[in-house]
Amino acid sequence: MPAKPPRTIATITKISRLRKRIAEWRAAGESIALVPTMGALHEGHLTLVNRAKRKATRTVVSIFVNPGQFAPHEDLNTYPRDMAGDLGKLTTAGADLVWSPDVDEMYPQGFSTKIQAGSASDSLETEFRPHFFGGVTTVCCKLFNQVAPDFAVFGEKDYQQLCVIRQMVDDLDMGLKIVGVPTVRGRDGLALSSRNAYLSAEERQIAPTLNQTLKSLAEAASRGQRLGSAENRAKAQLIKAGFKSVDYIVVRDAETLGVWSVKSGRPGRALAAAWLDKTRLIDNIKV
Ligand code: AMP
Repeated sequence: MPAKPPRTIATITKISRLRKRIAEWRAAGESIALVPTMGALHEGHLTLVNRAKRKATRTVVSIFVNPGQFAPHEDLNTYPRDMAGDLGKLTTAGADLVWSPDVDEMYPQGFSTKIQAGSASDSLETEFRPHFFGGVTTVCCKLFNQVAPDFAVFGEKDYQQLCVIRQMVDDLDMGLKIVGVPTVRGRDGLALSSRNAYLSAEERQIAPTLNQTLKSLAEAASRGQRLGSAENRAKAQLIKAGFKSVDYIVVRDAETLGVWSVKSGRPGRALAAAWLDKTRLIDNIKV
């Protein structure tokens, strides 16, 4: 007899029901890992789900496109959404629950408290998206309070975000553990991203240059070449490859995201954000 397909994963959209389910699991002695996402799931997200499943007995995946982290001119309205596809993938991946509140449930009338992100948010993304980390820390704080997980799993793909969340959890004694997962890439090195769906066929050909250029920058940095010149060369390389503009391509301290030099003996991280026409790609690698 053919194997029965698994029942579609349960989806909860109201905080009261979520709390009830979490309380039942806790009463049964279960541990909980949360994977926060904005949906349009790909293999990168599913790798986080697999890691979550190894960490705890229950895995909750939140799907919430958070208006708090988009500026008015950004892509909130066109951000890719595919709830049916996401539920199928999460059912197959064996997650236990999808937490998918609507915007009014997350930010009811009168909502006004915000988390101010710490020093890891001082530069890089914040120079170009000043609203971003306040939105991310606020929604993650809410998600952590709603789900009360033992672990929350984040991708290194959004490396500065991972640093900012770790700092928030430490600074505010949030008590859960943050787990970072290495970036999942296509064969050509392009980091998987929901926003890759915006790329034309021609742009998709150019996109892997971002990762290749980060690799050459990381190599130059680890050989002790002058950072400023190596970063400028990397920027020129991206423009030559067809990127319209480069927000940043730099090497920073892997923990604080402050200045780094090979002499510090500390781990470094090469990070970049660049535009292929109207699509902004980010990536980073270890130095
Ligand atoms: P997003 O839905 O883009 O907000 O991402 C949700 C989570 O998935 C974040 O922790 C991301 O860092 C992570 N993520 C996104 N793309 C990848 C990837 N290619 N590899 C690993 N993690 C990823």
